[in-house]
Amino acid sequence: METILVLAHTEAAGTLAQSAREALHAAATLHKSLADSKLVVGLIGDNVQASANSIAASPVTKYFGVTGADFSQSRYATDAAAAEAICKAAQATIVVVPATSRWARVLPGVAQRFGGRADTHITGVAAADGKISVSRWYYRQRMEGELTRTQRPWFLGIDPGSQVACDCGTGTVVVEMVAVNLPAASKRTSVVGLREPKAEAQTIRPDAQLLFVTGAGWTKKQADGQTHVPRAEELILGFLKQSRASLGSSKSLVDQGGEGQAVLSFLSHLNQVGQTGATPRHAKGLSTCCHGEEPHTVGWRFIGERRAISLDPNCGWARGKADVLYVADAFAVMSKVNELLAAGK
Ligand SMILES: Cc1cc2nc3c(=O)[nH]c(=O)nc-3n(C[C@H](O)[C@H](O)[C@H](O)COP(=O)(O)OP(=O)(O)OC[C@H]3O[C@@H](n4cnc5c(N)ncnc54)[C@H](O)[C@@H]3O)c2cc1C
Repeated sequence: METILVLAHTEAAGTLAQSAREALHAAATLHKSLADSKLVVGLIGDNVQASANSIAASPVTKYFGVTGADFSQSRYATDAAAAEAICKAAQATIVVVPATSRWARVLPGVAQRFGGRADTHITGVAAADGKISVSRWYYRQRMEGELTRTQRPWFLGIDPGSQVACDCGTGTVVVEMVAVNLPAASKRTSVVGLREPKAEAQTIRPDAQLLFVTGAGWTKKQADGQTHVPRAEELILGFLKQSRASLGSSKSLVDQGGEGQAVLSFLSHLNQVGQTGATPRHAKGLSTCCHGEEPHTVGWRFIGERRAISLDPNCGWARGKADVLYVADAFAVMSKVNELLAAGK
């Protein structure tokens, strides 16, 4: 009989992150298709009661908690100790965690302590005839693989954005507290603060409905023989501000900054989508002034509906990579789009 444990930490406000709810959804789906399995949850944080109550209407039968100020911050030694203690108390055979940077750091070490195995970037979990299998992508999301293991405990890091979040409903649950004896050495590291870009400079928004991608065309000479980079910046930022879309870029455009050419000031390599960039997940994507070459579009694997604006009717998008291609001047189109958005249309 499998005991499926979902591990999560609480957020600063005592809530559970979307990624934790997604991991719970994956675990609950697995539990449903696996006869005789048990579904339990382990929560780590300063105080976990509110988070446990927020998922009370899930099929979870037992809640474990490791609490206290020592467990409120992201720190390998204390997170690993808490996870280890909960896994032992729950006698978990399958451990499902959201693959956030905090959990991804801890997962392999805890698996090693139990002689278990850890798999990362899991995008699907299923069971048939009592056999569990997981799926994940390989070769920069070009191939999907399905694998199974007999080794237990098996730790599964669920890629955020790959599942729907469980909408579990609130209530009141009893949390069984698990004691962890922390040696002084495990508290040597402390988080002294968080540095993050200002809200308006934060252009990468994983939760956005739309991915807006900019290509090198925005900085190229236009029909009048001139470049119009300031106007491009104005149009792109204006659109992002009104639509709250996430900003992606082609490699050519972000590379230009390093080569000393005119480039959009708010772009960095973190925005790059593609084989050597990111593979974001959004319901829709709009590409502008980008050619749609294979190393770029491989990063669009998880974009639902793809549209592109390019002047070139023979670009990669036209060759089957976009659902809709507008052969048009992106300066003119985005100017009109911004106008309509401002008018509330
Ligand atoms: C090993 C390897 C890995 C790579 N990894 C990546 C990766 O991860 N991500 C990535 O993006 N690339 C990657 N590349 C590079 C990739 O092959 C392309 O060179 C790059 O994506 C091209 O960028 P671009 O389309 O922005 O620029 P360009 O190819 O210069 O295309 C610009 C486009 O803008 C259009 N345009 C110009 N003005 C306008 C206008 N006013 N309105 C509308 N359209 C206009 C032009 O018609 C043209 O189609 C990789 C390449 C290699 C070899």
